[in-house]
Amino acid sequence: MKLDSRSWALVAGCALVAAAGVFALCRAGFFSAPDPSSFWSWSLDNWETTIVGASGERLRIAHEPLALARNLALISVSFIGVVMGTPRVVEIVTRSGRDGAAAAGAPEDFAKTRRLIDGELGTILTLVRSHLDSNKTYSAALAKGHKEITATTSPDQIRAAIVLLIAENQKMLRETEEHQRQLEDSQRQITQLRAELAETQELNVRDSLTQVFTRRHFDETLAREAKLAASTASALSLIMADIDNFKKINDGHGHLIGDEVLKNFARTMAKHVEEKDTVARYGGEEFAIIMPAVSYAEAKMAAERIRAEFETKKWAIKGGAPIGRITASFGVAQLAPNENAENLIQRADAKLYVSKSRGRNIVTVDADLSPR
Ligand code: GH3
Ligand code: MG
Ligand code: MG
Repeated sequence: MKLDSRSWALVAGCALVAAAGVFALCRAGFFSAPDPSSFWSWSLDNWETTIVGASGERLRIAHEPLALARNLALISVSFIGVVMGTPRVVEIVTRSGRDGAAAAGAPEDFAKTRRLIDGELGTILTLVRSHLDSNKTYSAALAKGHKEITATTSPDQIRAAIVLLIAENQKMLRETEEHQRQLEDSQRQITQLRAELAETQELNVRDSLTQVFTRRHFDETLAREAKLAASTASALSLIMADIDNFKKINDGHGHLIGDEVLKNFARTMAKHVEEKDTVARYGGEEFAIIMPAVSYAEAKMAAERIRAEFETKKWAIKGGAPIGRITASFGVAQLAPNENAENLIQRADAKLYVSKSRGRNIVTVDADLSPR
């Protein structure tokens, strides 16, 4: 439930009008005089009693109408505080918990962002506490107003007491609006911090040079996908790729050019696979692609597309001599029944080296799907 400040004003106004109305009825003699000794009773049981008079007539006797009015007003104010504060605190605590779990084992950046989120959470709790304090002040003002009203008889004094109550109500509304504004500020801060945390997490699993996934992420993903494929009896293929004679490129043109080739190869691989596939830098100039729900025949076609595009690129240094053709070799394998991730890597890697030994710029496939 989300109420705007007008709705809150309506709720609080109704409570005040109810209090003033009950008081007016009381003063008009409709109810019996309030009993100050039971003013602080929270029970509503003694609100009204019906008795039968001596001559058989039914008389209604109302007890403590002001206590009821006061209680109604306090319940309304507490309701405002609880409804405004609790869901936000619960939401922030839950989010912070989830973020904390996601960031487990993460480096300093995560810890810093979590500290900032904790700081924002502290601000929100302070705001809620401050709101509760305002509620207490408001309740005290209502109690004072009641005391003054019960001790007076003149209409002017009653008017003055009601004016005081209305002024307190307006003050309370202003404070409620200010608290709401500050809570919204805090929530905006936390949304931004969550986005930064997600970005940091993403950076942590990406290779800084090529922007494909890291070896660590590859290992985790392949282990998970292998289990999933085994339990659902679905296909899972792996492509291993290695740039041919890369050392010569480094030696002949420098490491910066070598880096550019690595970046370009990573982009070419990503271009020819789907979002669900995981392209990773396996190490040095060796890359891997995890392809869930893909057979070795389909994976071979993807590897062929990458190989063909890469070999046709024209490489040249600005203002310098052309570099010539750069190629890559590939090995492909599909997860066999009862096979684990390490074994799948070994088979794909073995086929990659078959491609190397056969002259490079080749895709070689392991079509063996017999159970291991
Ligand atoms: P092959 O065709 O048999 O794969 O030969 P190769 O020269 O590609 O393989 P080799 O293992 O002999 O050389 C790989 C080179 O890759 C050696 C290493 O210095 C280079 N290398 C590894 N990581 C990087 C990197 O991040 N940037 C650059 N520029 N070079 C790298
Ligand atoms: Mg190589
Ligand atoms: Mg290599």
